[in-house]
Amino acid sequence: MAEAGRATLRVCALYPDLMNIYADRGNLLMLERRCEWRSIGFEVSAAGLGEGVEPDAHDLFYLGGGQDRDQRLCALDLVETKRDALHAAAGRGALVLGVCGGYQLLGHRYALGDEEIPGLGLVDLETIRSDGARLIGNVAIEVDLDGDGRRRVLAGFENHAGHTHLGPAERPLGRVLKGHGNTGSSGLEGVRRGSVIGTYLHGPLLPKNAWFADWLIAAALGLDALDALDDRFEDAAHAEARRAAGV
Ligand code: GLN
Repeated sequence: MAEAGRATLRVCALYPDLMNIYADRGNLLMLERRCEWRSIGFEVSAAGLGEGVEPDAHDLFYLGGGQDRDQRLCALDLVETKRDALHAAAGRGALVLGVCGGYQLLGHRYALGDEEIPGLGLVDLETIRSDGARLIGNVAIEVDLDGDGRRRVLAGFENHAGHTHLGPAERPLGRVLKGHGNTGSSGLEGVRRGSVIGTYLHGPLLPKNAWFADWLIAAALGLDALDALDDRFEDAAHAEARRAAGV
């Protein structure tokens, strides 16, 4: 186990200038600050269009949200220049976190009518754009990230036209307490397969759920626990996000 004082969280931000529609920079900043406050090192490098990624050089790969147009651009590039590296990274246990549009690209495909945007195939799911109303609003889900029965709440905001269907063996990130989640009717939200996590919660995910930022930092660095911080503001932000969702 690494020692917190000497560890460095190495983050790779995938397409930070294209896939950043809802506070995705804020999510990275949240990781940075919470590392800094504990004297954990923090490095972030960007991988944009045409740039390869080194599977062993990062502990956490972050893919944020995007409009269909930007998703299209990034999807083709992801598949061509980064897919193998991301499979290798996930295979050795590096965290891969996809939010909203980024979440959709973790699966096999995002279908929009006759068009199909390819995905990374890191998890068994597909997303189909619905002609119906977008799934928008405050959302709260219940998660058990460590599989020990300890249920915690993630609260945030969702806004998506895509409906995401998990394959039969795939597990969701959590169960919807309030809001729409993957399809608006399945009661499931996001996906979790080992170190690969996808969620529709953005707006902004980590500042509203500081405990989850810490869970990611600890998991990425292989630490059992992190030093406690003065989380008065963070707890208030979490409580407010829950209140907005009605939980
Ligand atoms: N374009 C996707 C959808 O509408 C994702 C949007 C987003 O990232 N907010 O389903």
